[in-house]
Amino acid sequence: MTSLVDSGLLTDLKRFGAADVSACFSCGNCTAVCPLSSNDGTFPRRIIRYAQVGMKDALLSSKELWTCYHCGLCSETCPQQADPGEFMASARRYAIASYDRTRLARTLYTRSVLGVGILVLVAVFFALVMSSSLGPQSATSLALFGFIPEDLIHMTGVVVMIMAGVAGLAGIVTMARGIARREGVTLHSVFGGRVAITRSLKALWVALGIEALGQKRYREDCAEAQEPEPWYRRRWLAHLATMWGFLGLLAATLLDYGLALLGIKATGTAVPVWYPTRLLGTVAGIVLIYGVSVLILNRLQHFNQAAKVSKPSDWTLLILLLIVAVSGFLIEVALYLPSAPRWGYWVFLFHVSVAMELVLLAPFLKFAHVLYRPVALFFLALAHDSA
Ligand code: SF4
Ligand code: SF4
Repeated sequence: MTSLVDSGLLTDLKRFGAADVSACFSCGNCTAVCPLSSNDGTFPRRIIRYAQVGMKDALLSSKELWTCYHCGLCSETCPQQADPGEFMASARRYAIASYDRTRLARTLYTRSVLGVGILVLVAVFFALVMSSSLGPQSATSLALFGFIPEDLIHMTGVVVMIMAGVAGLAGIVTMARGIARREGVTLHSVFGGRVAITRSLKALWVALGIEALGQKRYREDCAEAQEPEPWYRRRWLAHLATMWGFLGLLAATLLDYGLALLGIKATGTAVPVWYPTRLLGTVAGIVLIYGVSVLILNRLQHFNQAAKVSKPSDWTLLILLLIVAVSGFLIEVALYLPSAPRWGYWVFLFHVSVAMELVLLAPFLKFAHVLYRPVALFFLALAHDSA
């Protein structure tokens, strides 16, 4: 594969938070300690080298970039204080921004003040949309969908999901095409015949089931870096709780909508706390609050190597997730109070607005790693299978 050299790559990467890796003299200490380093002994310094010499295409089409979970072992051993772990995190931010043609991700990552302004504006926009047809606030029971019409929430939600889906898919296609070209993976080698399809399905299972949902490498390969930490503050557990908590809340919302479509239960009908979708939502909310709180606490206390440096994009995602989880929980508390508190309605408006924002901006925030990491892991599993 031929590619042009981008002499401004290193400077550009620094805008995304990369430490000064120009000091790296390829000593190999990071490679020696990295649990992901394979037999060829080039990871992660090969990625650093791409940045040093301006090999932008090679950097963006590198599946290995996404295998790193930022355990921080390499940064502890680097004699040049080049902070390779943080460099990898910055390179992933750079990759997310590069896969996004709208340049919104780049703005959010590199222009903090403007980025915060955009986040506030988007939330205010959704609040105004939801406020466009506010109904009465019943004082006898918390009639949330009498306050904000159910149809308005569903219609806005569908539009938001389509927009986020298109943006996410465009990024995935850009990334996958780059990696496939570099790796020599073709449509035929993925779908052409029974053997190819079986191999691809196996790689898909490894990427989605074992790694993305089960986080096997995160738990096992990065175990050494997390060894001295109490189990309840370990990054992999907090990350797993955040992911499953979010997925649980999403599932509860979609199931509730499905029950309404099937005519089993109208959205907003009062149900006991043990009703399956309510129970799922409650447990998922608690799990999400736990995961996000630990991740925030770790960053505030610089608890581990990965939490030593926090960029605005790290905070943005955690804060949005915490707002959605806590406001959702408050609504649930309000639902079971003997009389309907007025604050419950306003918390609901706030919750819906921020949740819509989170979904709409997902492909542009750090959240986008949920889309890109499995793609990289899929190619990695394919490569291992054919090795
Ligand atoms: S340990 Fe530091 S100086 Fe050595 S190869 Fe890695 S990043 Fe470069
Ligand atoms: S942060 Fe950990 S996984 Fe990532 S490159 Fe460094 S040692 Fe390897």
